Amino acid sequence: MALRHNGIRDTRVLEAIESIPRDLFVPETFRDQAWADMALPISCGQTISQPYIVAYMTQELELEPSTRVLEIGTGSGYQAAILSRLARRVYTVERHRALMEQARARFEKLGLRNIETRLGDGSRGWPEAAPFDRVIVTAAAGRTPPALLDQLAGGGVMIIPVDSGPLYQKLIRIRRTPEGFEREELLPVRFVPLRKGIARKG
Ligand code: SAH
Repeated sequence: MALRHNGIRDTRVLEAIESIPRDLFVPETFRDQAWADMALPISCGQTISQPYIVAYMTQELELEPSTRVLEIGTGSGYQAAILSRLARRVYTVERHRALMEQARARFEKLGLRNIETRLGDGSRGWPEAAPFDRVIVTAAAGRTPPALLDQLAGGGVMIIPVDSGPLYQKLIRIRRTPEGFEREELLPVRFVPLRKGIARKG
């Protein structure tokens, strides 16, 4: 993958990407495309993000080995697996039971033991495990869910795609400072929407 040539400078992030077999996270039919730099369909009408975006979001999250990370939108589990190599513990929330269970099986197969999964509406965060040093949202919201801001620790960093039109979003980085929240625009991106509640099917 040409991530190195595209502004991914953090060698720890590149090593983490290299250590996780993306082909395990995509459906059988797309396995030959697993190492191409593009988003691919997974079940429940969702997508596994493009590797470049996974790498970029991971890099801009400024992880340290001691950090506890909350991810909203487990999907295939690929992003969570990458995070788990760079952070102390990853808490990941998904609203589709089938996706959550498939992701959990992959973590087990890869021996990734520092990932906690939960079925739920991620816009409520994970109050029992809060506060989090880092929050990463991998579905697009109209605005940042207030519960996620509340659950961000002092000095913490959140990366979230926020709507900037009907199809596209801006990736935003939010820092919690003693004075409040600082927002910074990173990249134009395209994610599936953050939906309310737990999915009825799957
Ligand atoms: N991070 C994933 C890609 C995510 S696609 C990966 O690496 O594969 C976005 C995911 O967010 C989808 O699986 C979708 O079901 C989930 N999602 C959307 N709204 C949600 C919500 N409110 N709470 C939890 N998950 C949500």
